[in-house]
Amino acid sequence: MNEWIIIGGGLHGCTIATALIKNHVTTASDLKVIDEHDEPLMEWKSKTSLIGMEFLRSPSVHHIDVDPYSLQRYARKQHFRETFLGQYKRPSLELFNDHCDDVLRSINISQSWIKGKVRKIEKCDNHWELHVDNSKVIKGRKVVIAVSINTQLHMPEWVKELKGNPLNQFHIYDNNLKDLEGIKPPVVIIGNGITAAHLTIKLAKVFPDKVMLMMKSDFKVKDFDSDPGWLGPKYLNDFRKLSCYKKRRNIIKKARNKGTITGELFRQLRKLENSRKIEIRLVTNENQLHFIKKWQKENQEPPSILFATGFNSASPGKEMVADLISNGELALSECGYPIVSSSLEWCPNLYVTGPLAELEIGPISRNIAGARHAAEKIVYKYTH
Ligand SMILES: Cc1cc2nc3c(=O)[nH]c(=O)nc-3n(C[C@H](O)[C@H](O)[C@H](O)COP(=O)(O)OP(=O)(O)OC[C@H]3O[C@@H](n4cnc5c(N)ncnc54)[C@H](O)[C@@H]3O)c2cc1C
Repeated sequence: MNEWIIIGGGLHGCTIATALIKNHVTTASDLKVIDEHDEPLMEWKSKTSLIGMEFLRSPSVHHIDVDPYSLQRYARKQHFRETFLGQYKRPSLELFNDHCDDVLRSINISQSWIKGKVRKIEKCDNHWELHVDNSKVIKGRKVVIAVSINTQLHMPEWVKELKGNPLNQFHIYDNNLKDLEGIKPPVVIIGNGITAAHLTIKLAKVFPDKVMLMMKSDFKVKDFDSDPGWLGPKYLNDFRKLSCYKKRRNIIKKARNKGTITGELFRQLRKLENSRKIEIRLVTNENQLHFIKKWQKENQEPPSILFATGFNSASPGKEMVADLISNGELALSECGYPIVSSSLEWCPNLYVTGPLAELEIGPISRNIAGARHAAEKIVYKYTH
């Protein structure tokens, strides 16, 4: 019997695993991390490398290790160059990923790793049974669900009416799109946020003056995707006093700087536009279909269309716990998201992190900072 099982080995699952082991709540041999991929962080690494992200948006104290200064120390020790950007010391992706690998080696994650998809979580007398790939059952006393919305791809409604070769139209995070090798110019990138910005910059280098960024509204520049006040008591104290989860949801929606980009990406895009390497078009949602159809007609070569239109925000992973929800063991708010305790327990010995914990952690919940908050809360329960 395992003491702990974490479902999902992304940044969240790995942050929780690291915290549990380094705070001596458990050991690598008593912990299992079950994930669909061969190795930790595969979704994170493939998405960020695909769009050519060079630096993270978050500061250097946000990473998967316990000590906030661990990443800065690692950078010094490894003599990394071009390590941090700007006043918030945002780490390069290369440094961040190297540090993750180093931390995960130090907790011997390979001993805990099980490849597979959890289909169902069943409650037994004093433990949980996880049905993996419909073929095996893995037992554990405590379970953490660390799944994300990152595979719930959002496309605009009008896409259904778009005719043409579907091979030329992709959501950028579609798993069928392994790399950008097959993408043929001209390219139109649709989206307003940071993914669209990174992708435009990357493709402008490959196809200069053959890339168009189509945005539904003008650039909004913000350093972070929510105000740093959400990292601590400034906003969180009042948020957690609210007993109405509908109000909490509304606050989260307002607090997220959706569709915003950092100042340095904004400057790079304007520079590319001024030197005519890219074209930027503002086209409202209602006019996008018409615009694309016209654009398709006018171009002799069939254009490639890349959607950088984000994710559906429906609560993820519910199919695993459908029975527990229907028999009333797991509470849901009106928005369909879990109502959990202050230590992120959805019911005794079943914990959540990431989007599933956002009604407790607040707007930062899906981010790396949210993973750190979640890890602290879960560990606190077993160390105090
Ligand atoms: C391009 C990009 C850049 C970002 N940059 C930043 C940044 O700079 N700073 C920041 O704080 N945040 C950033 N984020 C947001 C966030 O931190 C990342 O999305 C992060 O990867 C989320 O981690 P996660 O573990 O929740 O999800 P994921 O990385 O998606 O990991 C979840 C894992 O769970 C597995 N899984 C799901 N269901 C099951 C199941 N039933 N059984 C077994 N395994 C399952 C999946 O296969 C996956 O491996 C960024 C996001 C993106 C997309």
